[in-house]
Amino acid sequence: MRELLKVGLWLEGQEVPAQSGNTFPVYDPGRGEVVAYAARGDQADIQRAIEAARKAFYSPAWRSLNPYQRGRLWWKWARRIEKGKDHLARLLSLENGKPLKQAYDEVETTVRNFEYYAGWADKIHGRVVPISEQVLDYIRQEPLGVVGHIIPWNYPLDIFARGVAPCLAVGNTIVAKPAEETPLSTLELARLATEVGLPAGVVNVVTGLGQEAGVALASHSDIQALAFCGSIATGKQVLAAAAANIIPVVSLELGGKSPCIIFPDANLEKAAESAAWGICYNTGQSCGALSRLFVARELYDTFIDKVRATMATIQVGYGPEDPDMGPLVSEEQLERVQFYIKEGRREGAELIFGGRHPDSEPLSRGYYIEPTLFGEARPGMRIVEEEIFGPVLSILTFESEEHAVELANASSYGLSAEIWTRDLSRAHRVAAQLDVSHVTVNGGGGFGVEAPFGGVKQSGFGREGGWESILQYSRVKNIWINLDAPGSS
Ligand code: ADP
Repeated sequence: MRELLKVGLWLEGQEVPAQSGNTFPVYDPGRGEVVAYAARGDQADIQRAIEAARKAFYSPAWRSLNPYQRGRLWWKWARRIEKGKDHLARLLSLENGKPLKQAYDEVETTVRNFEYYAGWADKIHGRVVPISEQVLDYIRQEPLGVVGHIIPWNYPLDIFARGVAPCLAVGNTIVAKPAEETPLSTLELARLATEVGLPAGVVNVVTGLGQEAGVALASHSDIQALAFCGSIATGKQVLAAAAANIIPVVSLELGGKSPCIIFPDANLEKAAESAAWGICYNTGQSCGALSRLFVARELYDTFIDKVRATMATIQVGYGPEDPDMGPLVSEEQLERVQFYIKEGRREGAELIFGGRHPDSEPLSRGYYIEPTLFGEARPGMRIVEEEIFGPVLSILTFESEEHAVELANASSYGLSAEIWTRDLSRAHRVAAQLDVSHVTVNGGGGFGVEAPFGGVKQSGFGREGGWESILQYSRVKNIWINLDAPGSS
């Protein structure tokens, strides 16, 4: 029997219980059993955290750090995360279910975020505006104050780091609310921040339920900005709560139904492998998952065979034992994915591969689902229109380049897209026409901490990554100095 972990909130550089003393269970989705209890923070704890972050924002300990000194702190934080990567990756794999190798990848991205924004810390400068000989007018790029970060469970470390690293680099302080499914790894990051010398109160983490701690953070009037990543339904609630206090939601990322377009001149072997592995990465629980696959009609049969063959090699298993694909994160998520698979069949799509929850021990105890492939999918079907957030791929066909673009853009979402073609002109032309923020051509990963990523349409707004993050977590102040003031010589 595994010993149960107990974790508290991270406030002012210390681990403390929730004021109410309440806790909530954290599950291992691979076994369907409780592995830890986390402090169930609520309104009172959010209040404490925001006060701590406010105090830290104005404290000499934070204010007197020069930008390059802040940058050095992120470097130290990055090195410490790297040193503790085995522990962090295991914790992440345990609470989220992802294969250990993917958990290590996420820790590496977390490290890269802190390294990258360490470099920006001393390069965030303003500019001088030419007005007249009598005026010196300049613009300062200033921090916002206390920023709230509401984090989802699919990439808890990465999404924490990509928002928090630039936010702190500008000089803000933060209160983060991790998802109830994955509080453990985020708390570990906060602990390491204190260990490497971040002043108390700069990074605060309040674990708890969305309806309690999440609502309390989103509706608080003493934060200066909010970043949210999660579902559309919750995103709307967060926007409304923040609007009541005129608090800007600087980043709102709400998932997607991203298209992948395979043109006849593509490298079909690579494209099929990439499509099958891509939808299974993180068990399909990625906002940018390419879940709508559009193939030129003449390729349909060949391509389906290739994707099916690759899916058949993907081994499903317990995340910490490092299979190819782990379980879904929760029972609720499993039910959701099973619902869509049923719905796809009911609406007349052809279930070509997978679709089952394994019914024998030990996998039957966890929230597993097989890699799933639907053919004969058509616009209007729920599996084509709605985000499933599981390893379910729907294949549709197109007749021409214009038709492919039209189909790809016929979605209420707009996050990422992928194109496979050897024709460079077509790649540029199509990339420019897609209503998304991020296009990959011919695979290869497609995401770097150095580049912006975010939503258009119902996928949200704001950009995380690159210089754009620095802009969104700062604001400008204009200062006009009259050089010809009365009294001056
Ligand atoms: P999912 O439905 O996939 O769990 P959510 O969008 O509900 O995704 O959750 C994303 C994050 O938002 C989590 O940290 C969750 O606790 C938090 N959350 C959920 N509901 C609310 C809410 N009403 N206000 C603020 N945060 C919330």
